[in-house]
Amino acid sequence: MLTIALSKGRIYEDTLPLLADAGIVPADDPDKSRKLILETNQPDVRLLIVRATDVPTYVDYGAADLGVAGRDVLLEYGSEGFYEPLDLNIARCRMMTAGRVGVPFPGRRLRVATKYVGIAQRYFAGQGVQAEIIKLYGSMELAPLVGLADCIVDLVDTGNTLKANGLEPRDLIMDISSRLIVNKAAMKMKHEAVKALVGQLASAVERRAAK
Ligand code: AMP
Repeated sequence: MLTIALSKGRIYEDTLPLLADAGIVPADDPDKSRKLILETNQPDVRLLIVRATDVPTYVDYGAADLGVAGRDVLLEYGSEGFYEPLDLNIARCRMMTAGRVGVPFPGRRLRVATKYVGIAQRYFAGQGVQAEIIKLYGSMELAPLVGLADCIVDLVDTGNTLKANGLEPRDLIMDISSRLIVNKAAMKMKHEAVKALVGQLASAVERRAAK
């Protein structure tokens, strides 16, 4: 049995065509069913529907053999507990700093609101900028508007969320896409099945890139 951990939403939607290319089709739609374990057309492959930030945990501990998670989530999780054999090139966006339109960052110690504490800390340290990182769990865009922070660190895709809240993107921290991760023990114990699936997904990614 191969167990693959995925999150609902964009990652699920973008992973589905790649899995279909590899011959794997889920039996249920997670948006319509409340099931958290989805059987597939292949009796020995099942999908787990988990929170995006929990994907690395399931794979690290071997509760899932494989998983799909954003580079942002993997960097914040920060473990060596799994392999990362493939960039699926999906759910692409940018990790950026952002601030209020036309308001420059202050010269003093910066206050930064973000979900991505580890990434923000490393980024500002690398820039030699003194920053106080304030951990938030959502709606980061609010923080600069009400004086909680000078800037935010968040994912930006179209930029519409920032714009709608009077913010503008500033510095690119890194490009983000979703990666396939594989539990280290599963890579050994289920080598043939894992290798075959990684190969099929890699071909599917290449075919998509060539289109
Ligand atoms: P946008 O308004 O298109 O720039 O999208 C920004 C919002 O969508 C922010 O709240 C982000 O956290 C979220 N977002 C954008 N792209 C992704 C992604 N690939 N994975 C997770 N969240 C994303």
